[in-house]
Amino acid sequence: MTDPLRPSLALPEGSSKVLMHSCCAPCSGEVMEAMLASGINYSIFFYNPNIHPVKEYEIRKNENIRFAEANGIEFIDADYDVDNWFERVKGLENSPERGERCTKCFDMRFERTALYAHEHGFDTITSSLGISRWKDMNQINGCGERAAGRYDDLTYWTYNWRKHGGSARMIEISKREEFYQQEYCGCVYSLRDTNRHRRSQGRERITLGVKFYGRDSVIEEIRRPVIGSTEPVENSPAAPSKDSGQ
Ligand code: SF4
Repeated sequence: MTDPLRPSLALPEGSSKVLMHSCCAPCSGEVMEAMLASGINYSIFFYNPNIHPVKEYEIRKNENIRFAEANGIEFIDADYDVDNWFERVKGLENSPERGERCTKCFDMRFERTALYAHEHGFDTITSSLGISRWKDMNQINGCGERAAGRYDDLTYWTYNWRKHGGSARMIEISKREEFYQQEYCGCVYSLRDTNRHRRSQGRERITLGVKFYGRDSVIEEIRRPVIGSTEPVENSPAAPSKDSGQ
Protein backbone atom coordinates (compact mmCIF):
# COMPACT_ATOMS: atom_id res chain seq x y z
CA MET A 1 0.00 0.00 0.00
CA THR A 2 1.48 3.35 -1.04
CA ASP A 3 -0.99 5.71 0.63
CA PRO A 4 -0.53 5.77 4.42
CA LEU A 5 -4.03 7.23 4.82
CA ARG A 6 -5.67 4.32 3.09
CA PRO A 7 -6.25 1.64 5.72
CA SER A 8 -6.09 -2.05 5.08
CA LEU A 9 -9.74 -3.03 4.79
CA ALA A 10 -11.30 -5.84 6.77
CA LEU A 11 -14.40 -7.48 5.34
CA PRO A 12 -17.33 -8.27 7.63
CA GLU A 13 -16.84 -11.51 9.53
CA GLY A 14 -17.45 -14.52 7.32
CA SER A 15 -17.22 -12.50 4.09
CA SER A 16 -14.82 -13.46 1.32
CA LYS A 17 -16.27 -12.47 -2.05
CA VAL A 18 -17.78 -9.06 -2.76
CA LEU A 19 -20.17 -7.90 -5.46
CA MET A 20 -19.82 -4.13 -5.67
CA HIS A 21 -22.74 -2.24 -7.13
CA SER A 22 -21.24 0.61 -9.14
CA CYS A 23 -23.12 3.76 -10.06
CA CYS A 24 -20.34 5.32 -12.15
CA ALA A 25 -16.59 5.50 -12.68
CA PRO A 26 -15.91 8.61 -10.53
CA CYS A 27 -17.60 7.12 -7.46
CA SER A 28 -16.26 3.61 -7.92
CA GLY A 29 -12.64 4.52 -8.70
CA GLU A 30 -11.58 4.93 -5.07
CA VAL A 31 -13.74 2.01 -3.90
CA MET A 32 -12.10 -0.23 -6.50
CA GLU A 33 -8.57 0.89 -5.72
CA ALA A 34 -9.15 0.57 -1.97
CA MET A 35 -10.35 -3.01 -2.33
CA LEU A 36 -7.53 -3.85 -4.71
CA ALA A 37 -4.99 -2.46 -2.24
CA SER A 38 -6.40 -4.73 0.45
CA GLY A 39 -6.43 -7.81 -1.76
CA ILE A 40 -10.21 -8.16 -1.63
CA ASN A 41 -11.81 -10.50 -4.15
CA TYR A 42 -14.58 -8.56 -5.88
CA SER A 43 -16.53 -8.00 -9.08
CA ILE A 44 -18.40 -4.95 -10.33
CA PHE A 45 -22.15 -5.02 -10.91
CA PHE A 46 -23.44 -2.21 -13.10
CA TYR A 47 -27.19 -2.00 -12.76
CA ASN A 48 -28.47 1.56 -13.14
CA PRO A 49 -31.71 1.74 -15.12
CA ASN A 50 -32.33 5.10 -13.49
CA ILE A 51 -29.83 6.84 -15.77
CA HIS A 52 -31.46 8.95 -18.47
CA PRO A 53 -31.11 9.29 -21.40
CA VAL A 54 -29.52 6.17 -22.84
CA LYS A 55 -26.66 8.25 -24.26
CA GLU A 56 -25.71 9.30 -20.74
CA TYR A 57 -26.15 5.73 -19.52
CA GLU A 58 -23.75 4.39 -22.14
CA ILE A 59 -21.14 7.04 -21.45
CA ARG A 60 -21.19 6.39 -17.69
CA LYS A 61 -21.11 2.64 -18.17
CA ASN A 62 -18.30 2.67 -20.70
CA GLU A 63 -16.15 4.84 -18.44
CA ASN A 64 -16.63 2.24 -15.71
CA ILE A 65 -15.80 -0.62 -18.10
CA ARG A 66 -12.63 1.16 -19.19
CA PHE A 67 -11.38 1.42 -15.62
CA ALA A 68 -12.41 -2.13 -14.72
CA GLU A 69 -10.57 -3.54 -17.71
CA ALA A 70 -7.48 -1.52 -16.88
CA ASN A 71 -7.47 -3.11 -13.43
CA GLY A 72 -8.44 -6.62 -14.51
CA ILE A 73 -11.71 -6.59 -12.54
CA GLU A 74 -14.74 -8.54 -13.70
CA PHE A 75 -17.51 -6.19 -14.89
CA ILE A 76 -21.05 -7.51 -14.91
CA ASP A 77 -23.26 -5.46 -17.23
CA ALA A 78 -26.83 -5.88 -16.00
CA ASP A 79 -30.14 -4.89 -17.55
CA TYR A 80 -31.17 -1.39 -18.53
CA ASP A 81 -34.79 -2.06 -17.66
CA VAL A 82 -35.99 1.51 -17.65
CA ASP A 83 -39.67 0.61 -17.85
CA ASN A 84 -39.44 -1.14 -14.48
CA TRP A 85 -37.57 1.81 -13.02
CA PHE A 86 -40.28 4.28 -14.10
CA GLU A 87 -42.92 1.95 -12.74
CA ARG A 88 -41.07 1.75 -9.43
CA VAL A 89 -40.90 5.51 -8.92
CA LYS A 90 -44.34 6.31 -10.31
CA GLY A 91 -46.04 9.08 -8.35
CA LEU A 92 -42.72 10.35 -6.99
CA GLU A 93 -41.73 12.44 -9.99
CA ASN A 94 -41.46 15.59 -7.87
CA SER A 95 -39.78 14.05 -4.85
CA PRO A 96 -36.49 15.85 -4.05
CA GLU A 97 -33.08 14.21 -4.11
CA ARG A 98 -32.55 12.13 -0.96
CA GLY A 99 -36.31 11.71 -0.73
CA GLU A 100 -38.66 8.80 -1.23
CA ARG A 101 -37.99 8.45 -4.95
CA CYS A 102 -34.32 7.93 -4.22
CA THR A 103 -35.13 5.27 -1.63
CA LYS A 104 -37.14 3.40 -4.28
CA CYS A 105 -34.32 3.89 -6.77
CA PHE A 106 -31.68 2.52 -4.38
CA ASP A 107 -33.95 -0.33 -3.31
CA MET A 108 -34.42 -1.43 -6.90
CA ARG A 109 -30.73 -1.38 -7.71
CA PHE A 110 -29.70 -3.11 -4.50
CA GLU A 111 -32.38 -5.78 -4.86
CA ARG A 112 -31.03 -6.76 -8.26
CA THR A 113 -27.48 -6.67 -6.92
CA ALA A 114 -28.44 -8.91 -4.01
CA LEU A 115 -30.24 -11.36 -6.27
CA TYR A 116 -27.26 -11.67 -8.57
CA ALA A 117 -24.91 -12.07 -5.62
CA HIS A 118 -27.08 -14.78 -4.11
CA GLU A 119 -27.28 -16.69 -7.39
CA HIS A 120 -23.58 -16.40 -8.23
CA GLY A 121 -21.69 -17.25 -5.07
CA PHE A 122 -21.04 -13.81 -3.61
CA ASP A 123 -21.45 -13.54 0.16
CA THR A 124 -21.20 -9.73 0.42
CA ILE A 125 -22.53 -6.73 -1.47
CA THR A 126 -21.51 -3.11 -1.21
CA SER A 127 -21.85 0.01 -3.36
CA SER A 128 -19.98 3.02 -4.60
CA LEU A 129 -23.11 5.13 -4.05
CA GLY A 130 -22.18 5.95 -0.47
CA ILE A 131 -18.87 7.63 -1.29
CA SER A 132 -20.59 10.73 -2.60
CA ARG A 133 -21.24 13.30 0.08
CA TRP A 134 -24.31 14.38 -1.85
CA LYS A 135 -25.86 11.13 -0.75
CA ASP A 136 -27.48 10.24 2.56
CA MET A 137 -25.34 7.43 3.93
CA ASN A 138 -28.07 6.20 6.26
CA GLN A 139 -30.55 6.06 3.40
CA ILE A 140 -28.14 4.05 1.25
CA ASN A 141 -27.14 1.70 4.04
CA GLY A 142 -30.78 1.09 4.91
CA CYS A 143 -31.55 0.13 1.31
CA GLY A 144 -28.46 -2.07 1.06
CA GLU A 145 -29.20 -3.91 4.29
CA ARG A 146 -32.84 -4.38 3.34
CA ALA A 147 -31.84 -5.97 0.03
CA ALA A 148 -29.17 -8.23 1.53
CA GLY A 149 -31.59 -9.21 4.28
CA ARG A 150 -33.64 -11.10 1.70
CA TYR A 151 -30.98 -13.83 1.71
CA ASP A 152 -29.55 -15.66 4.72
CA ASP A 153 -26.16 -16.02 3.05
CA LEU A 154 -25.68 -12.36 2.15
CA THR A 155 -24.24 -9.36 4.00
CA TYR A 156 -24.37 -5.69 3.05
CA TRP A 157 -20.98 -4.14 3.82
CA THR A 158 -21.63 -0.67 5.27
CA TYR A 159 -18.03 0.54 5.07
CA ASN A 160 -17.83 4.35 4.85
CA TRP A 161 -15.73 4.89 1.74
CA ARG A 162 -15.51 8.64 2.41
CA LYS A 163 -13.30 8.18 5.45
CA HIS A 164 -9.51 8.06 5.72
CA GLY A 165 -9.08 10.33 2.71
CA GLY A 166 -11.49 8.41 0.49
CA SER A 167 -13.40 11.50 -0.62
CA ALA A 168 -10.21 13.29 -1.66
CA ARG A 169 -8.85 10.25 -3.47
CA MET A 170 -12.13 9.91 -5.32
CA ILE A 171 -11.51 13.32 -6.89
CA GLU A 172 -7.80 12.64 -7.44
CA ILE A 173 -8.50 9.38 -9.24
CA SER A 174 -11.23 10.98 -11.32
CA LYS A 175 -8.80 13.67 -12.47
CA ARG A 176 -5.96 11.22 -13.02
CA GLU A 177 -8.20 8.98 -15.15
CA GLU A 178 -10.02 11.92 -16.77
CA PHE A 179 -13.34 10.28 -16.05
CA TYR A 180 -16.50 11.60 -17.64
CA GLN A 181 -18.00 14.13 -15.24
CA GLN A 182 -21.73 13.77 -15.04
CA GLU A 183 -23.55 16.89 -13.94
CA TYR A 184 -26.71 15.44 -12.43
CA CYS A 185 -27.56 12.43 -10.34
CA GLY A 186 -28.92 10.31 -13.14
CA CYS A 187 -32.67 10.12 -13.66
CA VAL A 188 -34.79 12.32 -15.91
CA TYR A 189 -36.17 14.09 -12.85
CA SER A 190 -32.75 14.96 -11.49
CA LEU A 191 -31.80 16.23 -14.95
CA ARG A 192 -34.98 18.35 -15.02
CA ASP A 193 -34.40 19.74 -11.53
CA THR A 194 -30.71 20.44 -12.08
CA ASN A 195 -31.52 22.32 -15.27
CA ARG A 196 -34.22 24.30 -13.47
CA HIS A 197 -31.71 25.23 -10.81
CA ARG A 198 -29.13 26.22 -13.38
CA ARG A 199 -31.62 28.39 -15.23
CA SER A 200 -32.52 30.10 -11.96
CA GLN A 201 -28.83 30.90 -11.60
CA GLY A 202 -28.60 32.24 -15.14
CA ARG A 203 -26.55 29.26 -16.28
CA GLU A 204 -26.75 27.15 -19.41
CA ARG A 205 -28.60 23.87 -19.43
CA ILE A 206 -26.55 20.69 -19.10
CA THR A 207 -24.91 19.46 -22.26
CA LEU A 208 -24.38 15.72 -22.13
CA GLY A 209 -21.03 14.12 -22.85
CA VAL A 210 -18.79 17.17 -22.75
CA LYS A 211 -17.21 17.41 -19.28
CA PHE A 212 -14.30 15.32 -18.09
CA TYR A 213 -12.37 15.54 -14.85
CA GLY A 214 -8.92 16.98 -15.21
CA ARG A 215 -9.65 18.65 -18.53
CA ASP A 216 -11.21 21.80 -17.08
CA SER A 217 -12.26 23.32 -13.77
CA VAL A 218 -14.69 21.38 -11.56
CA ILE A 219 -15.05 24.19 -9.03
CA GLU A 220 -18.44 25.34 -10.20
CA GLU A 221 -19.90 21.84 -10.28
CA ILE A 222 -18.58 20.54 -6.96
CA ARG A 223 -20.44 23.36 -5.29
CA ARG A 224 -23.76 22.29 -6.76
CA PRO A 225 -26.40 22.04 -4.04
CA VAL A 226 -28.66 19.04 -3.76
CA ILE A 227 -31.88 20.02 -5.52
CA GLY A 228 -34.67 20.21 -3.01
CA SER A 229 -32.24 20.20 -0.10
CA THR A 230 -32.07 22.93 2.49
CA GLU A 231 -28.33 22.38 2.75
CA PRO A 232 -26.56 25.70 2.05
CA VAL A 233 -24.20 25.67 -0.88
CA GLU A 234 -21.28 26.79 1.24
CA ASN A 235 -21.71 23.76 3.48
CA SER A 236 -21.83 21.34 0.60
CA PRO A 237 -18.67 19.24 0.53
CA ALA A 238 -16.66 18.60 -2.59
CA ALA A 239 -17.79 15.58 -4.53
CA PRO A 240 -18.29 14.46 -8.11
CA SER A 241 -20.68 16.91 -9.65
CA LYS A 242 -23.31 14.45 -10.53
CA ASP A 243 -23.91 13.65 -7.07
CA SER A 244 -23.42 10.61 -8.16
CA GLY A 245 -25.64 8.31 -8.37
CA GLN A 246 -27.29 7.42 -9.57
S1 SF4 B 1 -31.29 8.87 -10.10
FE1 SF4 B 1 -30.66 10.00 -8.27
S2 SF4 B 1 -32.18 11.64 -8.01
FE2 SF4 B 1 -33.05 10.10 -9.41
S3 SF4 B 1 -34.22 8.75 -8.08
FE3 SF4 B 1 -32.20 7.78 -8.35
S4 SF4 B 1 -30.97 8.52 -6.59
FE4 SF4 B 1 -32.78 9.85 -6.76
